[in-house]
This record gives sequence, C-alpha cells and structure tokens, in this order.
Amino acid sequence: MKINVLSADVYNKIAAGEVVDRPYSVVKELVENAIDAGAGEITVEIEGGGKTLIRVTDNGGGIEKDDLVRAYAPHATSKISDAGDLFGVSTLGFRGEALASIAAVSRMKIVSKTADGEAWSLASEGGTLGNVLPSAGGNGTQVTVSDLFFNTPARLKFLKSDGAEEGDVTNMMARFLLSRPEIAFTYTANGKVRYRSYGDGLAAALAVVYGAGTLDNLYEIDAEKHGIRLRGFIGNQNFAKPNRTYQSLFVNGRYVVNQTVSAALSNAYASYLMKRQYPFYVLFLDVPPEIVDVNVHPNKADVRFADNQVIYGSVYSVVSSVLDGNSRALEYLASAPKRPAEESRAVPSAPSAPTAAPAMTFEQAKKELEFEIPPLAGKVNLPRRSFTESPAAMGVHAPSPERAQEEAKEDAFEENRKFLLEREKKQRRVDPATLEFKGELFRTYLIYERGEEAYVIDQHAAHERLIYDRLRANMENRTVVSQPMLTPYVLNLNAQEFAFLEKNFGVLREIGFEIGEFGQGSVKVSSVPSDLTDLDLGAFFGEVLSNYESLRAIKLAELLKDKLASAACKAAVKGGEKLTDAEVRSLLERMDGDMGLKCPHGRPVAVLIKKSEIEKLFKRIV
Ligand code: ADP
Ligand code: MG
Repeated sequence: MKINVLSADVYNKIAAGEVVDRPYSVVKELVENAIDAGAGEITVEIEGGGKTLIRVTDNGGGIEKDDLVRAYAPHATSKISDAGDLFGVSTLGFRGEALASIAAVSRMKIVSKTADGEAWSLASEGGTLGNVLPSAGGNGTQVTVSDLFFNTPARLKFLKSDGAEEGDVTNMMARFLLSRPEIAFTYTANGKVRYRSYGDGLAAALAVVYGAGTLDNLYEIDAEKHGIRLRGFIGNQNFAKPNRTYQSLFVNGRYVVNQTVSAALSNAYASYLMKRQYPFYVLFLDVPPEIVDVNVHPNKADVRFADNQVIYGSVYSVVSSVLDGNSRALEYLASAPKRPAEESRAVPSAPSAPTAAPAMTFEQAKKELEFEIPPLAGKVNLPRRSFTESPAAMGVHAPSPERAQEEAKEDAFEENRKFLLEREKKQRRVDPATLEFKGELFRTYLIYERGEEAYVIDQHAAHERLIYDRLRANMENRTVVSQPMLTPYVLNLNAQEFAFLEKNFGVLREIGFEIGEFGQGSVKVSSVPSDLTDLDLGAFFGEVLSNYESLRAIKLAELLKDKLASAACKAAVKGGEKLTDAEVRSLLERMDGDMGLKCPHGRPVAVLIKKSEIEKLFKRIV
C-alpha cells in the first residue's frame, strides 16, 4: 500500500464538505461574514434553491485589496491571530475556512471596497484564482457563488429539490432576521422578495417572519436569574404550533438547538398544550461565556452548559411563572412595569447581563490564557477546555460511548469552574488587616482604604452573601442547626405532592427541617434551619411543590439552593440599617478579604476605586 499526500486541490474539496454541504450552509457562512464585518444592511439573493446562484451583499467594513487573495486561502482569517484569541472569540466565524471551502466547490467572485479604498474584485473557479481587478461598487462586500458543487457531482446529487433547498435557506434567513433584529435584511428567492426587515427591533423582525398578527399571541419576557438573562417572545397558553419550527433559541447570539432549554420549555408548557402541540418561542439566552461551550462542531448548532440544572431551572421557572401568571410573572414580563423590588434601594446598578456583544476583548482573553488551565484529573482523550483548543480538533475524539463522554465532559466543566473560581478568589483577595475602615456612605456602603485604593462594600450584598455561604456550607457539611418552632406547621397535600415530599424528607432534614408524616396526607414541620427562623413556610413549600413536576429533571437540592438564597436575602441586613462598629468588623472578617464575592443574585459585594480614578475626577491627572 502506498500513502499519498493529497494535493491541496483534493484536500480542499474534502474539507469543503465539512463546512459547506448544502446551499443553506453557504448562505449561513456568507451572512455570518457580513455580520462579522459590521454590516447594518445585508441582502441575500438566491436562485434555483441556491444551486445556481447565491449572492450576499453587505455594507460592512470590506476587504483591503491586498487581503483579497488571502480571503480565499484556507485558514486565513482576520478574526483571530493565535490560539489565545480563541478563548474570547466573539465573531461568528474565526476558523478562516468558509471562503476557501466554498471557492473550492463553486465559481465564486468577491467584490469589495473599504471605506478609504477603491473597489476590487477577485474571482475563482473551483478554487483556482483569477486576477485582482479594479471594480465598481459601494462600501462593503459582495460575494457571488454560482454553480455550487459543479466540480463535485457526487455532492450535487445529494442535494434536495430546488424548492426544498430554498425552504432550508428561508428558515436559515428567518433565524438571521430574528437573531439580528438591528440589521436590515433583504432576502429574495428567484427575484421575489421573501423577507425584508428594517433593523428596527425584535418585534418588527418577528412580524416580518411570522406575520404581524402573531404578536398578539405572544408574551414578551425579559428576566434575569443567577446571572442568566432570558429575553424574547413566548407564545401564550393557547398558541399551540404543530411542530418545532416555531422555536428559536439564541445562546449568546448564536442559534442553537439545545436539549436542556427545550425540555425546560416543554415542561413549562406541559399543562397548556396537548400531545403533538409545540410551544412558540423566540428566545435569547445570555449567559456568562465561561459557563457555555459553543460550537462543538462547526455545523452542529448545539452548546453545552457547565451546569444544566441551573439553566433548566432558570428557564423553567421564568417561563412557567409567566404562563401560570404567578406573582413573579410581573418581574419577567418585558412590557409590565417592574415591581419596586425590596432590595433595589441597595442596588447601585443592575448586574450587567452578558449580551450577544463580546464579553471579553481579545486582549483580555489573552491575559486570561496566561494562566494554565488545569488538566483533567483521570480523564483522557477529552478537550481540556474547549475554548483553548482549536475547535477543529474538537469532536474528533470519540474514545468512549457518547454517554460516558457526556459525563466526563460535565466533570471537566465542574473542575474548570472550580479552578476558575479559586483563581479569581486568589486574585481578588485582600488581607483584611491591611484595610482601614473610613466610614460609611448612605447607610449602605462601607468604605475601606488600602494604599492607593479604596474598597466600597455593599453591606447588604455582603451580608446576604455571607449568610448564603454559611447556609450552603452547613448543607454540604450536614452541620445544620435546627430551631424548633413554637407551633408546628402542618401542610395538607394531595397524594402526589405527599409522595414527592416524602421521598425528599431526607434532603429537607439534611438542611435543617424537622419534617415528618402527620397522618392522612399531611406533613408536619416542627423545626426549621436556625438561620431561617422567619422563613415563610407556606410560600416556601408552595414553591417547592409548584415545581415538583420539573423536579424530575432537577435535583431538589438544586432548587433548595435557589430558595435558600432568596431566604438568605430576606434574612440579610438591609441597606439603610446602621451597623455597629463590631458588626462592621465582623462582616469584613467573615468576608476574609475576598473582594471578588458576589451576592446570591450575582451583584458584586465590593467595588474597587483607585486613587487615580478620583484624581481624574478632579482633573489632577488626565
Ligand atoms: P472566518 O470568517 O472564519 O474568518 P472566512 O473564510 O469566512 O473565515 O473569511 C475569511 C476572511 O475574509 C475573514 O476573516 C475576513 O477577514 C474576510 N471576509 C470574508 N467575508 C467578508 C465580508 N463580507 N466583509 C469583510 N471581510 C470579509
Ligand atoms: Mg466566516
């Protein structure tokens, strides 16, 4: 047997199949490039289902004349320059293989003009480049792809009918309109305008895709939970759809299909929809980039979350609250006025939710990578941390059955997360002995000086966090102290509720409840965790039980964590209360100098203000 080294031509044709296998995937890559180029207007034209023609025109930044040739080269990208950049990649593309792949299997032409350059064009046929020629046109880029797969007949044969391919392109375009409502899109098929949006918001884009009447049947939501933001539109209780094509989820701006989120939604709608009816939703889930692993494979629209339970719980509770119309629904509905939350007095600013926008600059990402990522204990053949690996290298390992890999992957996340938390803590730790208390502001903020820095601590957030930590630690160590109640609390339950609670007596006892059967489907609570003596038991159990349907998917302990956090907040000292000197000191001691702490809702506990920042305010320095 002889081993052949493939020619670049053959190699590119093979590689092309990875990225572009259908007209819609060509459209996807070209539109993503236009978005990455900062376009505010994008026009997509297709003919013959995209087999004969695909043309994408944008008004983005354009390509310099000297870069035109490079744009066709495999692994040529302007979006990252080294592996370090991968960690914080915020553009849709970064592998630099799309244009090369498309060029290899079509007749392609790029015409492009940057703001301060002339228009130039470059054509290729099956990957063979022509000359760079002067051209005409406005700012931006136009990529025309004709005769897709003309030189790979086998692949051409695999395509569906023109109509079916067009349908897939149309679905793809619908997602672009929805995911980028700030961009004006025009999409035509065989000369007919299919979609035209004007970049004026999600509701308008939704009306273009689904018809204006649809909006009457939707709730607009915008909710934040555990640093996770969920916003968009969901169908009302009666708005059933016959299939899943009315469901779009965008995680940090990317379209994905994700089991965890779709299960949370299905379960939230379970009591409203019948079998074979599906909810309508267009949802944006914005999560901190470190808890989501995007792009397992370039063409697989899935993501993995570090903690599925938190994602599941957050999505489920937001959507079910809105559908069930419970008291929290008001907080989650975008159009409804926000309730004046109790703690809002002490909240200087809402936590800034991560959005589709880059969460980290390349510079920051590089800095991040200066730290070694810990190896996976005892796990082999798995990417350590996907962000640091070349995505092309991911997904090629298939050492074990899928399931085992899933589990190992979860562990990887867990370990990485712990490591990152520890590292952050170390970075943010300040020796409490070096902090000098300077007083308080507005009966809420404690001020400490340390050399050229001042720390401002939100006493409410700090206290909240400390109580939360103590409760969690007690839970983990099973050293919970119970406080007997003067009058036991009796809960009357139906058979299912009783069965559910009974099964979980153990968990509840571990966290300090004394709970037992009280005859005839009743349950008696005679002690509560001593930290939570003023817990509203009716509300607490009401919530636990209202969620028990979904608890098949999440562990009760997870839900209890959530509940404990809110209970902790209630028990915590509120902003506006003056602390004694002793209390101030003990607060700081118990924080152990950890200035990176966040309260259970994700708000920062401490803020650092440098002397130089204050001097800037006074124009002492610039
Ligand atoms: P990637 O998007 O992964 O970088 P592509 O092969 O899709 O790789 O594109 C290669 C390069 O060509 C991009 O990095 C970018 O510099 C340039 N490019 C492609 N399309 C456009 C466009 N519409 N406008 C501006 N530059 C573009
Ligand atoms: Mg690209």
